Amino acid sequence: MYDIVVIGQGLAGLLTAIRAKENNNHVAVVSKGIGKIIQSTAFMDLLPGRSENLTDARAFFVNEQISDSLLSEAADWFKALTGKLGLPYRGSIEKLTPVLTGAGFIKQTALYPHTVSKIPEEGDIIIAGIKEIIDFQPRYVKENLLTEYPGLSVSALSADLGLKAGRVLSQADVARQLDEASGRAALISALKKEMKKKNVKSCDMMVLPSCLGIKNSQLVMQELKEAFSCSVTEAPGLPPNAAAVRLYSALKKYAVNQGIRFIENKTTYSVEVKNDKVTDLFTEGTNEGIKLKKLVIATGGIIGGGLELTTDGLRDTTINQPVNKDGTNKHKLRNVYYAGGTKKVPWTDTWIAGGIYTICTSYSVPFSKKTPGGKKHAGVECNR
Ligand SMILES: Cc1cc2nc3c(=O)[nH]c(=O)nc-3n(C[C@H](O)[C@H](O)[C@H](O)COP(=O)(O)OP(=O)(O)OC[C@H]3O[C@@H](n4cnc5c(N)ncnc54)[C@H](O)[C@@H]3O)c2cc1C
Repeated sequence: MYDIVVIGQGLAGLLTAIRAKENNNHVAVVSKGIGKIIQSTAFMDLLPGRSENLTDARAFFVNEQISDSLLSEAADWFKALTGKLGLPYRGSIEKLTPVLTGAGFIKQTALYPHTVSKIPEEGDIIIAGIKEIIDFQPRYVKENLLTEYPGLSVSALSADLGLKAGRVLSQADVARQLDEASGRAALISALKKEMKKKNVKSCDMMVLPSCLGIKNSQLVMQELKEAFSCSVTEAPGLPPNAAAVRLYSALKKYAVNQGIRFIENKTTYSVEVKNDKVTDLFTEGTNEGIKLKKLVIATGGIIGGGLELTTDGLRDTTINQPVNKDGTNKHKLRNVYYAGGTKKVPWTDTWIAGGIYTICTSYSVPFSKKTPGGKKHAGVECNR
């Protein structure tokens, strides 16, 4: 019997499971796939695809019963967690930060990974592409960046790492090369060669695609900064971005090390309900239910596959219960909670929940706090 079963291992599922485990619960994650986290930029936006500041976004968050204090608490918790994992997030929800996308556009985001820096409006910038990554085109990035910040002096160049893969490489592929000392040395030497060819002597900031290591991103950042005496930033483009793969891998590894059980490649389809509470969760391929006390549905809504858009409206594919127009259950099940993209679906045009909303909804699932031995603290209910 699990205290908490989480369906889904996207950002919402992993964060919820980690939080449940922090409160000493016996936790399992059941999922059919790894979720959309690795398709994202790894920026934690206040509102997806939009740049409003907190004042503008507040109405939305209040409507979703997310208070200012919950927003801050959840963001601080996420920053502390990622810091512990060696991938610290910076930024704040009160004041958004201008960061660069792989297409060269400025985006205002709330929290961003340690491999990303705020883009200045003035100064010398090198946009450094890598020939092997074809979806990051430095000249195109330069043109778009200059339309946003015309006060910048921007040089564009492309380094050839000489990788012979026989296929187009993604940003995450190159990141794995840069985890190795030989990969980093090859990049630094190729960039120096290109700078010499283009007579570019120095810069205040170097922008690269999101490929600055998976396991050794701290080392990659440090070596690049030292080699070029400038600040360095990633600009995430088409997935898979290294920043997102890095976050997913670190959260998953941490969750496994904490003792969270992963039941993978399993599609859930139904539940047993007694007295308005779910007692068992059923996955395809077995008649035996997974026994649980609380169920968290973190199946990503329409994009993540937990909800299906049919001609009759939304259909819950996860536990096969009738749902309202917004994806919530028609019949209240007392021990079922929602986190991430599946919690409230139709409030964005894209159905993409966004990082800050995902963090907050994961953080605010109520867990009983237990002592390490498994007994409940008398009267202590963690969180709301
Ligand atoms: C293309 C893309 C780009 C994005 N870019 C950004 C960005 O730049 N900034 C930002 O803030 N946010 C961005 N996001 C959103 C961000 O990643 C969200 O926070 C996230 O997608 C929501 O995560 P989730 O965990 O709710 O769902 P998901 O990541 O979709 O995870 C759903 C999980 O549920 C599992 N699942 C579904 N149905 C079942 C079932 N029946 N049985 C078992 N398992 C099931 C899936 O396998 C998966 O593990 C982006 C999202 C996408 C898709």
